[in-house]
Amino acid sequence: MPHTGELDLIRSIRARAATPPGALRLGIGDDCAVLRPLANHDILVTTDFSLEGRHFRRDWHPAASAGHRCLARGLSDLAAMGAKPIAAFLSLALPAGTLRKAAGRQWVEGFIDGLLGLAKATGTPLAGGDTSTAPGDHILADIVLLGSAPRGKELHRSTAYPGDALYVTGILGGAAAELEALSNHPKRFSRSSPTDNHPHLYPQPRLAIGQRLRTLATAAIDISDGLSTDLAHLCEESNVGAIIDAATLPRIEAEHLALHGGEDYELLFTAKASTKLPKRIGGIPITHIGTITKNRAILISHSGNETPLVPAGWEHQL
Ligand SMILES: [Mg+2]
Repeated sequence: MPHTGELDLIRSIRARAATPPGALRLGIGDDCAVLRPLANHDILVTTDFSLEGRHFRRDWHPAASAGHRCLARGLSDLAAMGAKPIAAFLSLALPAGTLRKAAGRQWVEGFIDGLLGLAKATGTPLAGGDTSTAPGDHILADIVLLGSAPRGKELHRSTAYPGDALYVTGILGGAAAELEALSNHPKRFSRSSPTDNHPHLYPQPRLAIGQRLRTLATAAIDISDGLSTDLAHLCEESNVGAIIDAATLPRIEAEHLALHGGEDYELLFTAKASTKLPKRIGGIPITHIGTITKNRAILISHSGNETPLVPAGWEHQL
């Protein structure tokens, strides 16, 4: 049985998580949510943990950033497969007494603000979830995201073919650079807002691009672990290799951050060499960075010198 603080929390979330018209017919309030996807659409599902001390720190991340990032990670997975979000479910475990302290209540409100802000911006209704007391003193959040795509038209990471051109969206390395800055000056971004450009604190999942790519791309993956690691995943699943031209990488940060820095949440995708790609989709640059090869090796070319690109996306440690 939830205690008073939790009931108040659920009531306030429910009041703010309005059900927009769409696949969600019934949201928070009954025993289950009810979804009715469009005819001839499949449902795609992804889940992500956001654990204090592992994915965010209360002394580094503004609460709104922790909430935004909790949802952004799952939305980026939907984007990678060309899906449109239809509902999110949030389970939140809070250390005992969190909601009895003003600072704790404020943190939880900030987290929900950040999460619902991105939910609204991306048309993702929060349709249910659970709250509980965490056994320890860390905040634990788990999010389930459902999306839909026309039947059989979703994008996979396993369908790249030798000769395909390799592309990436946006600018790489910004999230890793911002995390580095945050670790040096934890209070530096305490007044940041989701509307500012903050690639680590407030990443923007590429949902519109993913949906557009359904008819343009042959394969896609989102860059959550770093370009080198996620390219290795795509090559492994497609049983191909790749060669990247270092000079073409879209970056303003050091090359190693663009290649290996995690959490950019951009899309890495392949398209037939004959497919004409726009220079930008929805204002976001699309950059041709290399080619898919038959040989299983992943190479990087610096002025024509080809060397193996070793996947080195870091597991970020907070
Ligand atoms: Mg992913």
